[in-house]
Amino acid sequence: MTTDTLAMEIKRVEASRIHEVDFDNLVFGRHYSDHMFVADYINGEWTNLQIVPYANLSLSPATAALHYGQAIFEGMKAYKNEAGEPLMFRPLDNWARFNKSAARMCMPEVPEEIFMGGLTELLRTDAAWIPTTPDSSLYIRPYMFSTDAYIGVKPSDTYKFIIFTGPVGKYYSKPPRVKVEQHYIRAAEGGVGAAKCAGNYGGSLYPARLAQQQGYDQIIWTDARDHAFVEESGTMNVMFVIDGKLITPATSDTILNGITRNSIVDIAHHWNMPVEERKVSVKEVIDALKEGRLEAAFGAGTAVVVSPFGVIGFEGTDYELPAVTEGSFASRVKDFLTDIRTGKTEDPFGWVVKA
Ligand SMILES: *Cc1c(COP(=O)(O)O)cnc(C)c1O
Repeated sequence: MTTDTLAMEIKRVEASRIHEVDFDNLVFGRHYSDHMFVADYINGEWTNLQIVPYANLSLSPATAALHYGQAIFEGMKAYKNEAGEPLMFRPLDNWARFNKSAARMCMPEVPEEIFMGGLTELLRTDAAWIPTTPDSSLYIRPYMFSTDAYIGVKPSDTYKFIIFTGPVGKYYSKPPRVKVEQHYIRAAEGGVGAAKCAGNYGGSLYPARLAQQQGYDQIIWTDARDHAFVEESGTMNVMFVIDGKLITPATSDTILNGITRNSIVDIAHHWNMPVEERKVSVKEVIDALKEGRLEAAFGAGTAVVVSPFGVIGFEGTDYELPAVTEGSFASRVKDFLTDIRTGKTEDPFGWVVKA
C-alpha cells in the first residue's frame, strides 16, 4: 500500500469556513481548517480511514482515555513555497516519535502509510488554509486516544487516530521570562517524559500557573533527583550558547527528543559551530550568565521554532539575558530554519517533503 493508493473516504464540507479567519492577525490554536483525517483501530487493525468535515466527536462517558490518559499527540507544521506547494518539515520524524509514544503507552502503532497518507491527503484537501503571511504556518495536530467504553484500568482494545490542522501566527510576542523550577518536576527517570502523552501537559499546568503568579511566563524544568540539571523549558527543549558553543541537554528518559532541537544541532554542525549534547547544570548556566559568557538561552520547539529568553529567574534573583541581535546564532538559526521550511532556501538536509 502506498500513499496514493490508500483506501480513504473523503467527505468534503458544503461551505468552507475560511473567510471567517483573519489571516493577518492569527492567534495560536484558535482556528481549525475545514477537514480532519480520522481512523479507527478495531479488532487489531486500522480501519474506517476518512477525511471528513472538522466536527465534534461523539464519545461514551466511559471512554477510557478520559479516565486513565491513554492519549498521545504530535505537533508539526506545514508551509507553502513560492509556487504555492504545501511543504511538510521532517514528517517522518514525527511519525517515528508518535509510534515511540504509542509503545510507551501500550497503544498500537500507526503504520507509515496511514500517518503519511492521511496527512498528505488532508494537506491537499485544505491547502488553502496554509498561511503565507510572515511568521505564520499551518499547525498540524495528529493524536490518538483509547476509546473502549470500559473503566477497568487496562490497555484499551480500540483507539481513534485523528489529524486536524489550523492556521497559526507567532506564539510569544516578547522574550519570555523563565523561572528555574526547583520544587515541581515534569518528568522522572523511568517515567513518561520522553513520550508526548497527554498527562505530561496536564501535570505541568499547576507549576506553570504558580510561576505565572510570580511574574514569569514559563518554567525551566530541572532533574527530579537533585534539581541540579536543566532539562526542558515548558514544552520546549532548551539550548544555550556559552563561549561560542551550542550546549543542550542530551535527550533521555526525561527529555523529549525534539525535532526542532535536533535540526538546530544539525545546523550548528553544518556551520562548524562546536556542539555539546550532555548534562547541563543550572550552576553552569548561572555562572556563565554572571560572567557575561552566556550569549543566548532559548527554547526550541515546533510551536515557537526558537524562543530566546529575556530573563532567567533562579533562587529569587532575576538575571537579564543579552538582547538577541541580528547576527547572533539564535536569530540566524531561526531564519535559516524558517527559510528551509518555507522553501526559500535550498534544503541541504533533505528535511522538506512536498505534500
Ligand atoms: C513537543 C515537545 C518538544 C519539542 O519537540 P519538537 O519536535 O521540536 O516540536 C519539546 N519538549 C516537549 C516536552 C514537547 O512536548
